[in-house]
Amino acid sequence: MIRITFPDGSVREYEKGVTGLEIAQSISPRLAQEVLAVSVNGETCDLTRPIEEDAAVKLLKWEDEEGKHAYWHSSAHLMAEALQELYPGIKFGIGPAIENGFYYDVDPGEGVTIKEADFPAIEKKMMELIAAREEIVRANISKKDAIAMFSERDEHYKVELINELEDGTITTYTQGAFTDLCRGPHLPNTSYIKAVKILSSAGAYWRGDEKRPQLTRLYGITFPKKKMLDEYLQMLEEAKKRDHRKIGKELQLFAFSQTVGAGLPLWLPKGTQLRMRLEDFLKKIQRAFDYDQVITPHIGLKQLYVTSGHYAKYGKDSFQPMHTPEEGEEFLLKPMNCPHHCEIYKAFPRSYKELPLRLAEFGTVYRYEQSGELHGLTRVRGFTQDDAHIFCTPDQVKEEFLKVMDIIFIIFRALDFENFEAQISLRDPDNKEKYIGTDENWEKAERAIVEACKEKGLKAKVVLGEAAFYGPKLDFMVKDALGRRWQLGTIQVDYNLPERFELEYTGADNQKHRPVMIHRAPFGSMERFVAVLIEHTAGRFPLWLAPTQAVILPVSEKFNDYAYRVVKELKRFDIRAEVDDRNEKVGRKIRDNELKRIPYLLIVGEKEAENEAVSVRKQGGIDQGSVKLRTFAEEMAREVEEMTNPALDQI
Ligand SMILES: [Zn+2]
Ligand SMILES: [Zn+2]
Repeated sequence: MIRITFPDGSVREYEKGVTGLEIAQSISPRLAQEVLAVSVNGETCDLTRPIEEDAAVKLLKWEDEEGKHAYWHSSAHLMAEALQELYPGIKFGIGPAIENGFYYDVDPGEGVTIKEADFPAIEKKMMELIAAREEIVRANISKKDAIAMFSERDEHYKVELINELEDGTITTYTQGAFTDLCRGPHLPNTSYIKAVKILSSAGAYWRGDEKRPQLTRLYGITFPKKKMLDEYLQMLEEAKKRDHRKIGKELQLFAFSQTVGAGLPLWLPKGTQLRMRLEDFLKKIQRAFDYDQVITPHIGLKQLYVTSGHYAKYGKDSFQPMHTPEEGEEFLLKPMNCPHHCEIYKAFPRSYKELPLRLAEFGTVYRYEQSGELHGLTRVRGFTQDDAHIFCTPDQVKEEFLKVMDIIFIIFRALDFENFEAQISLRDPDNKEKYIGTDENWEKAERAIVEACKEKGLKAKVVLGEAAFYGPKLDFMVKDALGRRWQLGTIQVDYNLPERFELEYTGADNQKHRPVMIHRAPFGSMERFVAVLIEHTAGRFPLWLAPTQAVILPVSEKFNDYAYRVVKELKRFDIRAEVDDRNEKVGRKIRDNELKRIPYLLIVGEKEAENEAVSVRKQGGIDQGSVKLRTFAEEMAREVEEMTNPALDQI
């Protein structure tokens, strides 16, 4: 008998060689139906793999990342099996599970292409293989046999992969007539998969190398219930409608110009309005938290980034140094603001009495991204970080973390991101030599982050070994209206830059000490944040952020003058309004402006002009009737204030 320990600490005895599936069956038939893989002493395994000795076991279901991973990886094999039947002679590259579904890179052969029109036939074949309930069987195989087996089938991509593996570690998985080189783990059989969808195809170079052959990457997704697939496809549809690139164009927020260059966003007046409101909001909060705003140049001497270590990190694979007419001068576009802020710190001798020193800058940085990687505002080559660096003593780290968390919470709340998660990244305790900084400081900072989260009642996932070599960090992930996760704000402790820049302060003991540096950016970058905000709100921004808050719709040209007077009056209340003076029917004007997601439409005709009033129609088609202009302006100004002030009042 062997002893199996479950996550809740309970222990049961089983026959040696028991499988995860049998363990699940012994607990409940229902569980046996839901379980997809099993973790044995931390290693994810097939449900059918015999367990030979005492072990800690966790049964993995759909809700567990690893369970879902095994499910989607098995689905990649299923798709490959279907492709093998439909496209004889097709060659396979790699086929992993990804965050949402899976893909397989395939080489269908000379002159053969797999198009969207072919997807239904592939899906149909997959469903047939599911109905056949094929067992998925693992086998250990020697390197020699593996090479022979895949060479015989002319699978040269697989042979290349096998050649890089060590003998004794190679396994294959077989279902029906399909065998794949694979580590697993996999589902016991194909019938676990209930609903399938091939989503898209794209070109992908073998091993990401543009000098190697281009393969076809087929993306797919599967679910244990048809309803889940339907919901997912509906979410994708909705996501398409909310795509920030589409809405950004419709609302004239930003544009790209091939003449300016790919990945370099141009902020249009309305987008700039929106962005500046966000920046002003954060600046106001930062003033309350005693930050000092600074401004630094967009370039710096190459040596600056050699000192900071950024040249080693970004130098080769990013924008190359610029040379001046004068010989020997070399500048780099700045990839990070930190080195400049270190130099601001160094501009004067510092005393402990000045700490914490908090330097904030909306700093634009430039990093090269391959053109294929660029995507709207979320992957760009130039972006502005809402950056700040806090220079403090090791004892102040926790207090500063708490304050930065306050700022992040204020922002998330004001923007209706109710749903967020946090991750604490700590160092790998078994590999301490990988990290810079003393044990004492690391322990202090790690404890500070964990305690700060606890004090704020923030549930954070702790991950060992994920810290940067220069310090632990806390990252925030928000879930948008469609349940998609976006990584936004981050707070990062840094022992490295103070060392590299030899930063110092004079302590109360009159001795020189090294400060700790904290990097933080609640939005992350303005570009990325605005993209997320657009997709989260589908372009229906909260009133205080809407670039145009009200549009005045005169019922005929006769009332254009009055409409412009209304705009002028609203401006006195800091309300952003404009007139739709096109010679169109008012119904048409209402429809057009509703598409532009304008919060308030104000209709004006004879009655309104006579009474100094406006007829108010709120977004969503709610008619509020005729209201005195003055009253409307005051109420709207109050509404805006109430959206931002409660946040500021908490400070
Ligand atoms: Zn595989
Ligand atoms: Zn920084």
